[in-house]
Amino acid sequence: MLFRGVAVVHEADADRRIGPHPWPRVLRLVRYVVATWMYRPAAYGREAVLRRDQHSCAYCGAHADTIDHLLPRSRGGTWDWLNTVAACGRCNSRKGNRTPGEAGMRLRFEPWVPTRIEVAAWAHRR
Ligand SMILES: [Zn+2]
Repeated sequence: MLFRGVAVVHEADADRRIGPHPWPRVLRLVRYVVATWMYRPAAYGREAVLRRDQHSCAYCGAHADTIDHLLPRSRGGTWDWLNTVAACGRCNSRKGNRTPGEAGMRLRFEPWVPTRIEVAAWAHRR
């Protein structure tokens, strides 16, 4: 960050140096472009939903490879982070054209909008 000019040394150790810079004790960010993109919503996609939910069915926890729309598509439900969850084929067909409430099915978690940094971290997840 120092070399890219994103940070400056705010407080330094006088006796030590890192390259041309004093050894930093406290850094101050001068630009936070790098930090902010990470907290924007991640790009949405079918595969990304499965990864968010760790390929685990939002209803029963079994291995999931389908996407369930909480508000079904036929009723105006959209493809977005908050309206979709990973679901196993069984739960998906059992729920059918209903909301979880109508079908009497409980979600194991509430869907959320992941940030880009979360999605980047998933690349290192098993
Ligand atoms: Zn299931």
